[in-house]
Amino acid sequence: MNSLYLLRDVVENSGAISLRAFNFIKTANQTAQIQNASIRSPLRFRRVLSSVRATSDEELAAAAAAANADSGAPTIFDKIISKEIPSSIVYEDESVLAFRDISPQAPVHVLVIPKLCDGLTQLGKAEKRHEEILGQLLHAAKIVAEKEGISDGFRVVINSGASACQSVYHLHLHVLGGRQMKWPPG
Ligand code: AMP
Repeated sequence: MNSLYLLRDVVENSGAISLRAFNFIKTANQTAQIQNASIRSPLRFRRVLSSVRATSDEELAAAAAAANADSGAPTIFDKIISKEIPSSIVYEDESVLAFRDISPQAPVHVLVIPKLCDGLTQLGKAEKRHEEILGQLLHAAKIVAEKEGISDGFRVVINSGASACQSVYHLHLHVLGGRQMKWPPG
């Protein structure tokens, strides 16, 4: 049986992943990955399936977050700024706060946020008046990289909007490093 049909069989009989996820993995790269995985190793096949499920979860969470993006309600980052919620602070000045991501995707994973959101729920909402804070955020990212000893190579990511899987609607930079990064990103 073709491995793609095998996968569909698994999906239909176990309900393990959504139809949307199944359609997603039909894209060329993932189809090849799944075919290879199912032929070479059942363990790898399971890993591929679980990564597909994780992707779907992230997309669903991002879609839910986007629905409340402009509600004006305080986000978890507002509570971190007010110290209502604890965080592991790496750098702070009058405009910017940098703290460790609770779910690190690299040995160093720090979030850099403006203390005053001023409508900057996402980069896609940036206006001319935000130029100064946008520059301050990038400069803070460089300071964080120095402090964390990753100046020789690090990545700065901004997820803007649901299709980029943004989950917190208070602009933030991800500063990632401490391992070899891959390209293209997922
Ligand atoms: P994004 O998906 O680009 O909106 O990134 C939001 C990030 O915030 C994710 O990487 C989360 O792991 C991170 N995050 C959520 N809650 C917290 C928290 N309480 N402390 C630190 N990081 C958090």
